[in-house]
Amino acid sequence: MQFHINGFHPGDPRIHDPQDRVVAPPIKRPLPTHCDVAIVGCGPAGLNLAAQLSQFSDIHTIITDLKDDRLTVGQADGMACRTLEMFQAYGFAEQVIQEAYGVNEVAFWKPDPRNPTHIARSSKIDDVEEDLSEMPHVIINQARIHDHFLNVMRNSAAKNEPFYSRKLIDLLVDHSDEDYPVTLMFERAVTHSQFNREVETVKCKYAVGCDGARSQVRKSIGHELVGDALNQAWGVMDVLAVTDFPDIRLKSAIQSTNEGNVLIIPREGGYMFRMYIELDKLKEDERVDRENMSVDVLINAANRIMAPYTLEVKEVPWWSVYEIGQRLTTAFDDAKNGQAPRIFLAGDACHTHSPKAGQGLNTSVMDTWNLGWKLAHVIAGIAPTELLSTYSAERADIAKQLIDFDREWSKMFSSKPKTEENPDGVDPAEFQKYFELFARFTAGVGIQYKPSAIVGKDTYQGLASDQPIGQRFHSAPVIRHGDAKPVQLGHCHTANGAWRLYAFAGSDDPTSESCRVRKLADFLANNPASPIKRHTPFGADSDSVIDFRVVYQSHHRELERGDLHPLMTPVKGALGLRDYEKVFCVDDSSKKNIYDMRGISKSEGCVFVVRPDQYVATVLPLDRHQELTDFFGRCLIAV
Ligand SMILES: Cc1cc2nc3c(=O)[nH]c(=O)nc-3n(C[C@H](O)[C@H](O)[C@H](O)COP(=O)(O)OP(=O)(O)OC[C@H]3O[C@@H](n4cnc5c(N)ncnc54)[C@H](O)[C@@H]3O)c2cc1C
Repeated sequence: MQFHINGFHPGDPRIHDPQDRVVAPPIKRPLPTHCDVAIVGCGPAGLNLAAQLSQFSDIHTIITDLKDDRLTVGQADGMACRTLEMFQAYGFAEQVIQEAYGVNEVAFWKPDPRNPTHIARSSKIDDVEEDLSEMPHVIINQARIHDHFLNVMRNSAAKNEPFYSRKLIDLLVDHSDEDYPVTLMFERAVTHSQFNREVETVKCKYAVGCDGARSQVRKSIGHELVGDALNQAWGVMDVLAVTDFPDIRLKSAIQSTNEGNVLIIPREGGYMFRMYIELDKLKEDERVDRENMSVDVLINAANRIMAPYTLEVKEVPWWSVYEIGQRLTTAFDDAKNGQAPRIFLAGDACHTHSPKAGQGLNTSVMDTWNLGWKLAHVIAGIAPTELLSTYSAERADIAKQLIDFDREWSKMFSSKPKTEENPDGVDPAEFQKYFELFARFTAGVGIQYKPSAIVGKDTYQGLASDQPIGQRFHSAPVIRHGDAKPVQLGHCHTANGAWRLYAFAGSDDPTSESCRVRKLADFLANNPASPIKRHTPFGADSDSVIDFRVVYQSHHRELERGDLHPLMTPVKGALGLRDYEKVFCVDDSSKKNIYDMRGISKSEGCVFVVRPDQYVATVLPLDRHQELTDFFGRCLIAV
């Protein structure tokens, strides 16, 4: 899709008239006095959590922001492959891919050895390695992602809309109140950024501070961001410009000899691009006064860094000075003295880092993707409150890795290139190697959760050697049996808060009574020890908590519907209709056999237990029924 040719206009570019892209803010309503979950902050972390919790009509969630409307421009723009996998679960990944810039190659530029006052390209590399994800790495305005989350909320079972113009001023927890222990106090804005003294109070079961780096929620529970005291300031501008720089439609990292560094990020629509310029690397008289920084300083700096190439800027739709330190919160929740947590922090409220690796938004949404299903399970009464403690344990670890990575990456990015005159600088080859080494991490697919009640040990890892337990379920192509449609297996894992059991058949005849997948289906359907029977509330569909899916090695035409166990075409819904989308066969058409791709034993098969946030909780042999029962018994409540 190409757009912005005649200038930048916010909103959905599919709508021709920019005036029609304006979405009216929700009608101003008073806050409710009580709710289950109160989310503070309509950034990506908060909106993702609200979108996830909106899937459950019986969970009353509210989300508030001090701003008077939705974001329309600016802030982060890089969406990692893993983030797109999550968007797929909500059903809006395809629209994002269609609209966004897809990052395929990265160009590295350094001082020209023949004339160090000029830059020269040193190399180009692929942005993501093959089969890292079925999803691309894309660039699109954060505001458009907010729009998608808002649509998911609006169209969901709970029909959720944010409460804008509400500034959280305080938050209290009273553990003696068993029903609604958390009280939040908001001031309501009368006009933009002018808040009156009229205080609205909301009582809730759980509150989540997604209120950014200066989080009031964090302050209220006595935590702080600790880390590097020295802030780094970045000039960032989205521009529509004419330039002779040859790689303007490639992500480009440029290091000049003495003028500083710039990162170019091409943007959606085919014309716009973003430039990040590290301000500390500017000339002394330019960097002293950040308050009075002007966009012309940034444009001039970009022209100097990119010499001999030039930049003629036609329009700057957004620019900002983004000042940030590498900091981590002292805790992710308010748990203390053995009390289960009631307040959680997520996103920038917990961790801040440079924009260079594009991790701000991506890590923030992964925080709340981890938390959402846990809150939903506990509120629905299908999991014990101990489940909530795993949020902090899992995400604090990831945030620490991110800060360590960012510190090293920032140091390399900010250093001058290694030359004869500057032997202590960074070798551009080393810089590139570091970028490649951490590609899995920056793509968001390297996240590895440690063994806990919801991540099993690697006892049977050999049955699926290339699908590590604790990492996200890595999707692969399969053929859906019912309609012979080639699909990605991972795409059946929607954001509905259910676990998945993927049973991969072994070498036994799928039609025989002794077939291990068939026996597993029989156990799950009929045995009182079946996790499906134990943990699915009365009257709910059989796949609403644990969704059983099967993959066969046979060609899809070799298997008849009558060969399938009834649990593989379960009866569901108000009319008792059968679901024909639970069974898959391998896709050999492009030599992309899921068994080969994920190292799954073709003789033994196995079963993957996948959490609602798509992380593989454990891998078990097909016939270890008791171990399956025990696993779910540790993290869910029998209902
Ligand atoms: C000006 C700016 C520029 C940025 N530029 C870049 C960039 O170029 N590249 C990049 O990768 N990242 C950038 N970021 C960071 C990126 O946007 C964040 O990492 C990401 O948005 C984090 O999401 P979040 O939901 O945790 O917090 P945020 O997006 O910060 O959202 C927090 C929300 O909470 C609201 N809020 C705060 N206090 C209160 C209160 N007391 N009561 C009610 N609501 C409150 C805020 O209005 C805001 O909407 C930028 C951030 C900012 C603020």
